[in-house]
Amino acid sequence: MKRDIRDLLNPALQRIEVYKVEGGQEAEIKLNQNESPFDLPLWLKETILDEFLREPWNRYPDILPFRAMDAYADFLGIPRDCVIMSNGSNEMLYTIFMACLGPGKKILVPEPSFSLYEKIALLLQAEVVRVPMHPGLDFDAGAIIETARSRQVDFIVLSTPNNPTGKSLAYDDVCRIVRESDAIVLVDEAYIEFSREKSLLGLIGEFPNLVVLRTMSKALALAGMRIGFAIADPELLGELAKPKIPFSSSRLAEITLQHVLKHYYLVTDAVAYILGERDRLYSELEGIAGIEVFASDTNFLIIRVDDAAAVFRALSGSGILVRNVSGYPLMKNCLRFNVGLRDENDRILDKLRKL
Ligand code: PMP
Repeated sequence: MKRDIRDLLNPALQRIEVYKVEGGQEAEIKLNQNESPFDLPLWLKETILDEFLREPWNRYPDILPFRAMDAYADFLGIPRDCVIMSNGSNEMLYTIFMACLGPGKKILVPEPSFSLYEKIALLLQAEVVRVPMHPGLDFDAGAIIETARSRQVDFIVLSTPNNPTGKSLAYDDVCRIVRESDAIVLVDEAYIEFSREKSLLGLIGEFPNLVVLRTMSKALALAGMRIGFAIADPELLGELAKPKIPFSSSRLAEITLQHVLKHYYLVTDAVAYILGERDRLYSELEGIAGIEVFASDTNFLIIRVDDAAAVFRALSGSGILVRNVSGYPLMKNCLRFNVGLRDENDRILDKLRKL
């Protein structure tokens, strides 16, 4: 008799699930994936496509997209050998986790945080050490430092500002964690452009155990292009790059990034708009009975309602798609939605007021 197929597979598959987006990815008002509401202007898309047309499509791109990596390093004002680009920051998470984790390795993950961290760690059969947030969803920096030391973790991943809570660690606390632990510390700055806290980028030269992760999917409005970066000391980066999938960034992605960096005012303007709308949404939500709203350092807001599943359904019945994040620890009856265009924000406020 043949063996059960499951016995032939990685045993970790029993503990993880296929990535899903509840409610799908289509809606009249789509606020469920923390995207930017602003697409690139058509004139810029046309410039990018003109350049893409002149590329040889039959030839592999560079093993790594050096043209875009050089442009991003220049943009950040850091040495070129400190950056590496990936096909979305998700790909970089897989790469870095593969380089850092395996059976017998311990990873510290604050909880709740971005679900992919735990999924990749489990897949690699590492031990996950979870450190809960405070009940108000703020990070517990003291517990992170203490646990990293007492459990002798090898790797710490911090999403700050954090998805799904919307809160940041204070800059000084991240510095303390990087300084006081002897683990590799990955600081995922996916939402940094919306944050009141400073980026850790300036400390790359100082801490050989620090890796900063960036995505172009949020403030840079390029989720469809799949662009992410890791920034670290060149010696560490050289090791982290070993499991990297070769040729994973397309010629189109690297051309696009070069052009968007040249027109960065588009990003700055969009961020200013989103921050203005975030503040407006926050104060309007504070005035709605039956809703608790959490302060946000990102492009999305978290609200707590009496019955998240019912509110999710009522909103989607009106064409408004949000994310039900109630399943995360400490987030019972919480919903997450990103800041949209002004009239989209008005529509969600209006609907929530009438519930
Ligand atoms: N990190 C965090 C904290 C995120 O919220 C996301 C997207 N939801 C990512 C990384 C991945 O982004 P991408 O793969 O689009 O770069």
